[in-house]
Amino acid sequence: MTDMYTSSFYSFASEEERWSYWAKHINYLYNVPATDVYKNLYELVKQKPYFVITTNVDGQFLKAGFEEQKVFEVQGSLAKVQCSVGCHNKLYNDLEMVRKMLRVEKNCRIPTSLVPKCPRCGDKMEVNLRKDAFFVEDEHWFYLQKEYDQFIASYQDKKIVFLELGVGFNTPGIIRFPFEEMTRRFLNATLIRVNDRYFDLAFEIQDKAIFIQEDCGQFITNLKDNL
Ligand SMILES: [Zn+2]
Repeated sequence: MTDMYTSSFYSFASEEERWSYWAKHINYLYNVPATDVYKNLYELVKQKPYFVITTNVDGQFLKAGFEEQKVFEVQGSLAKVQCSVGCHNKLYNDLEMVRKMLRVEKNCRIPTSLVPKCPRCGDKMEVNLRKDAFFVEDEHWFYLQKEYDQFIASYQDKKIVFLELGVGFNTPGIIRFPFEEMTRRFLNATLIRVNDRYFDLAFEIQDKAIFIQEDCGQFITNLKDNL
């Protein structure tokens, strides 16, 4: 493992070790307060109509004060677990489960009796991350997808800013490419792309886009300080 993202794909020797790891990882995220970047971003948008679409799974937007009904976590959330084979589309909050695991975890293993099993089919449970074909999208996920689409539809003729923060080419089809496409199509749209690495802009939208080659955190802080 080189970081918390790659750890999601690590091949553990047993379920007892895997959940011992996830319990620490998830609990760590529960304990981290909202960082200044997210709090500053919220200060910048809270008086305006806004909607967040994110591939982040760490819950930082909600902690920083963004409204739950306006944050679409497309790729899942580490606050939820699901059936590993997606036999039913229900998600389960994991806070109590991971805290219980941590209380009895020993030598990077949890007791076998605490390894979670799907309440419907008895198969393994999995964190709710889109990493295979079994990713569960529940009612709330579809509700937010609809809210996002409606938000875009209701502002497409108005002055709309697509503020794209740190989106690379891991999953560009979720935010990066659609933002470019909508900027091209909507008459009054502006794309602001903040990225310290991936800065190419499609030729068709160059006069409607602003590219800022900078770390997102630094950019947001500067913007907030200059208000
Ligand atoms: Zn199941």
